Amino acid sequence: MIELNAIEQGKSIVVVGGGVAGMEAAIIAAQRGHKVVLLERSNDLGGQALLAAQPPHKEEINSLINYLVTQMKKQGVLVKFGIEVNRSVLEKLKPDEIIMATGAVPLSLDVPGLSPKRAILAWDVLKGLATIGEKVLIIGGGQVGCETAEYLLQQGKRVTILEMEDKIAREMSSINRQLLSQRLTNLGVDILTLAKLVEVDQDKVIVDQLGVKLTFSGFESIIIAIGAQSYNPVGNDVGNIQVHVIGDCRKPARLMDAIHDGFYVGSNI
Ligand SMILES: Cc1cc2nc3c(=O)[nH]c(=O)nc-3n(C[C@H](O)[C@H](O)[C@H](O)COP(=O)(O)OP(=O)(O)OC[C@H]3O[C@@H](n4cnc5c(N)ncnc54)[C@H](O)[C@@H]3O)c2cc1C
Repeated sequence: MIELNAIEQGKSIVVVGGGVAGMEAAIIAAQRGHKVVLLERSNDLGGQALLAAQPPHKEEINSLINYLVTQMKKQGVLVKFGIEVNRSVLEKLKPDEIIMATGAVPLSLDVPGLSPKRAILAWDVLKGLATIGEKVLIIGGGQVGCETAEYLLQQGKRVTILEMEDKIAREMSSINRQLLSQRLTNLGVDILTLAKLVEVDQDKVIVDQLGVKLTFSGFESIIIAIGAQSYNPVGNDVGNIQVHVIGDCRKPARLMDAIHDGFYVGSNI
């Protein structure tokens, strides 16, 4: 068992965001004797990890979430749901220190003819918030785009992935990328690499592949999976209170990076 740094005096800590980074920070800070309150705007703990667990073969991420939720209870972290934290909420609470773990938001795509209504975010697909047609175009062949493709292919949809780079799912380890590619191929995906969406004209989508314009039609849904950017609604300081920024809120990365950030701040606060 890891020995945690002892504290001289317990502090009141507010953690904003109940993803894996916020939960890990809250657990470790509470274990060391601080009084910790975690504020989450939704009614669930887990954040993006809840989405990450949706595609096929990813269920084990739910065990990670359940483990962290159980540890929070054990360490006496007080969780308050349904609170959209902003600067004034924190100024009223006046904790000794604040941990911002508000994660990231998905990037949207600005392409001529593609209305915001037509462009569905992959995150909304995995949240079950979107109605998806039978023939689907996914813009972005990173891990999220590819796993969303597998999720939809398993529902019987016909899926094409458009990727700007020369290969899909570049951020995955080579073994996991190969396994995912093989499963997508078996499910009948179409993949266009080195290809960029340049325009949507009613039923037609126009794609630039190495300088050649290609036109496709018949896609009922266009799904955007082009990455995420950090989201921090209060910035790096709230009056004189020290603010620690962790996880995807600091820099979008991966589950273990977020947990590492949470552990580090929880251990040193
Ligand atoms: C579809 C998908 C698949 C992924 N697959 C993998 C994978 O296989 N492996 C991997 O390592 N990583 C994966 N990732 C990335 C990983 O899930 C994230 O890096 C990690 O979960 C980030 O955790 P976090 O706690 O920093 O942020 P988040 O999980 O985004 O948590 C932020 C929390 O803050 C809350 N919040 C936001 N604003 C406020 C506010 N103003 N007030 C109160 N609460 C607020 C949110 O509701 C949320 O609960 C995936 C991500 C996605 C989207």
